[in-house]
Amino acid sequence: MNLQSKLAILADAAKYDASCASSGAAPRDSVGGRGMGSTEGLGICHSYAPDGRCISLLKVLLTNYCQYDCLYCVNRVSSNVPRARFAVQEVVRLTLDFYRRNCIEGLFLSSGIIQSPDYTMEQVVEVARVLREEHDFRGYIHLKTIPDAAPELLERAGRFADRLSINIELPTPTGLAALAPQKDGAAIARSMARMAVHIEDARQARREQDRAPARSLGAARPARRAAPPAFAAGGQSTQMIVGADATDDGTILATSARLYGLHRLRRVYYSAFSPIPDASRSLPLVAPPLLREHRLYQADWLMRFYGFAPGEIVSPAQGGMLALDVDPKLAWALAHRERFPVNVNTAPRELLLRVPGLGVGSVDRLLAARRVRRLRHADLVRLHVPLKKVLAFVEVADHRPGRALEAADLAARLAPPPAQRGLFD
Ligand code: SF4
Repeated sequence: MNLQSKLAILADAAKYDASCASSGAAPRDSVGGRGMGSTEGLGICHSYAPDGRCISLLKVLLTNYCQYDCLYCVNRVSSNVPRARFAVQEVVRLTLDFYRRNCIEGLFLSSGIIQSPDYTMEQVVEVARVLREEHDFRGYIHLKTIPDAAPELLERAGRFADRLSINIELPTPTGLAALAPQKDGAAIARSMARMAVHIEDARQARREQDRAPARSLGAARPARRAAPPAFAAGGQSTQMIVGADATDDGTILATSARLYGLHRLRRVYYSAFSPIPDASRSLPLVAPPLLREHRLYQADWLMRFYGFAPGEIVSPAQGGMLALDVDPKLAWALAHRERFPVNVNTAPRELLLRVPGLGVGSVDRLLAARRVRRLRHADLVRLHVPLKKVLAFVEVADHRPGRALEAADLAARLAPPPAQRGLFD
């Protein structure tokens, strides 16, 4: 099989993995000499570097052969799909070729499990080692790790990768046992814990080096200190499949909160279950609405940056599920109208962050502005606050929402009609 055919199979097989935050775009190409550029390049997706830059990645599997039989996975051993496998040097060559053509800035590499978890992990790590040590590759590398592999291999992966991820797969141990019986939830937790320790140790070593005074070699120029070994400077992430079993959103968010707290994950990615060919009868026949995935991301954001606890975001009245018609922050505000209006001139930051329409940036701008003057309606306009959403929930020197806060149609007036997009639109 030629390299192009392998790339077609292994890039397509990798698209189900959301843990590098790939994004979608309408298919366009410049075949025939018309126009410039293409959004159809095989295996290229977008992700975000630790400093927030959007970067293009070559996103592929080393192989889509797999000896496991996770029911939700298109690559499982019993799946009837074309199979392919890259040699280590082929992934290296593709990465370097794409990089030299300025198509990518990094690599996202995952794999089905062949022979054994250790053997597979060795191959994945070898790709990263060859890129870094033999080609001095400075681009971004995200490696998907196999939790059952030996700890030394995971440790080695962290030496070469910017980010590591281990997929928790299902939000509950019961779900994992039912749908991925060969996966070991305890091993996943152990590997995440080990990675968290390595990542923290490497950060600590860097902090200590930054604090230590540079010793002079006797001349005016300070001596350069060897940098402490890096370990997955972009941290670790995971992915949960949503809608493959009956787990509700409250349970999913509680699992995420536990993972953020226990293992200091950088991100939990939510991947809406996608029906696959020849699926097991234990799986649903239809995918969950993608809007559910979107609401989970919004709720996740509220937990990480807005101080919400998972139990606050999901209302028991909704049967443990997030509302689809309004975003979770607005849903919380509508269910807790007694907490509003919030006085923009006096409220603490935590309370301002709970106002629908106020993001972290706008709250910081309001806090800075109110240090020098008492804020009025015109100041909200000047600070680009989205008035339509915010005014019903706040008071300033010359504005009070009055009965607007009690209006029965407030949700309908503030929430735009939901629009459902396809997974690969
Ligand atoms: S181990 Fe990974 S690739 Fe293999 S069947 Fe399970 S989810 Fe799919």
